[in-house]
Amino acid sequence: ENSKDLISPPWGELEGALVPAIIQDAITKNVLMLGYMNEEAYQQTINTKKVTFYSRSKQRLWTKGEESGNFLNLVNIKNDCDKDTLLIQVNPVGPTCHKGTGNCWGEDNKSTYGFFSTLEEVIAERVANKETNKSYVASLFSKGINKVAQKVGEEAVETVIEAMDNNDALFLYESADLLFHYLMLLQAKGFTLKDVEAELKGRHK
Ligand code: AMP
Ligand code: ZN
Ligand code: ZN
Repeated sequence: ENSKDLISPPWGELEGALVPAIIQDAITKNVLMLGYMNEEAYQQTINTKKVTFYSRSKQRLWTKGEESGNFLNLVNIKNDCDKDTLLIQVNPVGPTCHKGTGNCWGEDNKSTYGFFSTLEEVIAERVANKETNKSYVASLFSKGINKVAQKVGEEAVETVIEAMDNNDALFLYESADLLFHYLMLLQAKGFTLKDVEAELKGRHK
């Protein structure tokens, strides 16, 4: 792709303007920071593959990481629907915020698994309060780790049975039970989905 083609969308009608550039981690999808680009910053970003802004405070081109080494390595640039805001996907080197956090809103740049991560948190909360909590999770946990493991085994068998039975609704129902109890077992063993992901990534060629 010719870099001239890439430049024309935002700056055709917005000549000389500063365009906001949302910086997103290409893997975690977290928003890391917001900066502004002029045409020259945009061009330099594409040429060097290191995100470069026009800094309004410094009043010059600013390559993020130029002092700290915490560069934002370019993965992809997208223009928005009406071509006035850039979404820049990056692989960040180190923490993006100069205050040391993963993003500029004081948050970690951690991967999440959407609703599964919410469930992990809910399970952790139930376990932490298992003496007082009357929930199903709390009561299963208080029966000990072997009971949780056994339950995963049962749900796995039920999932297998429904898979062979050709009943999609029941198969999904048992799959949900299996995953839920598996999340509990991971928790009971002191692990999270993140640990399983790391193991799988290590095997991926
Ligand atoms: P760096 O570009 O990481 O080498 O940092 C150089 C300087 O840019 C820092 O001392 C800050 O003044 C500023 N800076 C770095 N990162 C950010 C950021 N995420 N948001 C705003 N300013 C930043
Ligand atoms: Zn827009
Ligand atoms: Zn910051």
